[in-house]
Amino acid sequence: MPANSMDELVSLCKRRGFIFQSGEIYGGLQGIYDYGPMGVELKKNIKDSWWSSMVYRRDDIEGLDASILTNPKVLKYSGHEDTFSDPLVDCKDCNGRFRADHLDDSKCPLCGSINLTDPRPFNLMFKTAVGPVDDGKNFAYLRPETAQQIFTNFKNVLDSNPKSLPFGIAQIGKAFRNEITPRNFIFRVREFEQMELEFFVKNGDDEKWHEYWLEERLSWWEDQGVPRSSLEILDVPQDELSHYSKKTYDLMYKFPHGVEELEGIANRTDFDLGSHSKNQNEFEITAKVTNNKESNSKLAVHNLDEKKWEIPYVIEPSAGVDRAFLAILNEAYNEESLPDGKTRTVLKLSKHLAPISAAVIPLKKNDNKLVNLAKDVKDQLQQVSNRRIILENTGNIGKSYRKHDEIGTPTCITIDYDSIEKNTVTLRDRDTMDQKTIDIDDINKHLLI
Ligand code: ATP
Repeated sequence: MPANSMDELVSLCKRRGFIFQSGEIYGGLQGIYDYGPMGVELKKNIKDSWWSSMVYRRDDIEGLDASILTNPKVLKYSGHEDTFSDPLVDCKDCNGRFRADHLDDSKCPLCGSINLTDPRPFNLMFKTAVGPVDDGKNFAYLRPETAQQIFTNFKNVLDSNPKSLPFGIAQIGKAFRNEITPRNFIFRVREFEQMELEFFVKNGDDEKWHEYWLEERLSWWEDQGVPRSSLEILDVPQDELSHYSKKTYDLMYKFPHGVEELEGIANRTDFDLGSHSKNQNEFEITAKVTNNKESNSKLAVHNLDEKKWEIPYVIEPSAGVDRAFLAILNEAYNEESLPDGKTRTVLKLSKHLAPISAAVIPLKKNDNKLVNLAKDVKDQLQQVSNRRIILENTGNIGKSYRKHDEIGTPTCITIDYDSIEKNTVTLRDRDTMDQKTIDIDDINKHLLI
């Protein structure tokens, strides 16, 4: 059962150390957030799960970690300098600024005035000076999507790791957009992370692969606890497609503030590789590409059957890490009534995503024997796990269970006097709250660590 409101999630995130407002002690910075001790673990597990499904479990996809600062020419030829904008309107009465396509009834959301300017395009890319002189000429963009460096590295990746079509390049990393009105917690922010795959295919096979990736992505979301029944597939209308897209499916999720895009799966055709290639007239390019006189590379593959070079098409599943975090958190959130009339908040996260895999809790805080044994158990589990196990030494078992319910720890392991005398521990299950006694040496068998 998802959360009732965004406020519930915001409050949990602050209380339990998932997400904080950035620079909060100075009043914050709009549309920018920091991930705390629990947030960084959940975020990492989401990214690891994506990476594993895209790179480790396949042989046709390679990884990349490219730079954030981007040569302006990359974003000139990608079309972003000309077209990566949102329609901006000003309220002439209160000076508020808004996205025209987000207004209800063409009224200012702050003062209700209808005295608004005509919409004008506002480019969303952040610029920064490069080098010691800020003369307005030596600048770079903070990348607005991770995709472009995949395209510009196409030949580097292919030359160093030869592959034939179809194959992909995957990347996870920060992207920046100077959103006119960042809002709805981490849903629309100015600094965020993306998980993007560019999957290169033969022209003509693109529609088949587009459908394939739609299915793959739905199945991945299901594994993260976001079932198909929670997602709507929007076939984006032609007049709303990005400049590079022939067809896009948006996966729409019911966030606490409304139904909005979680992931976009676009058929980017041969637009990007075509636009970044030199000597474009040597190729049959179907998209209307940007005329390029500055690139020194042909981003093409050799078709051995037809003995010619050709520019592949590309299918791009692009998901935001922060929106994934919000959707996963929302799906996992539960308020449950207990038999004693109290309620508990519990995050029923999939085990592979939980920030803490297991908490080891000594019954008493100041009993050295108990605490030392708990430390040993924690250390041994941590040695065989690449996710976090913690020692929870508060001396209050009930309070520890409540905390670990709220951060979604699947298992709590209690160390008591039987642990010393009989070599047993008590395992407490997050979802059922059932407890069972097992031998210390068998803990591994009962956990997903
Ligand atoms: P929207 O229409 O909501 O502005 P978009 O269509 O511009 O999104 P894309 O360019 O398709 O988004 O980016 C791919 C993914 O990156 C989105 O599906 C989303 O998960 C994420 N994303 C894009 N913009 C933001 C943002 N400002 N804050 C957080 N995540 C974002």
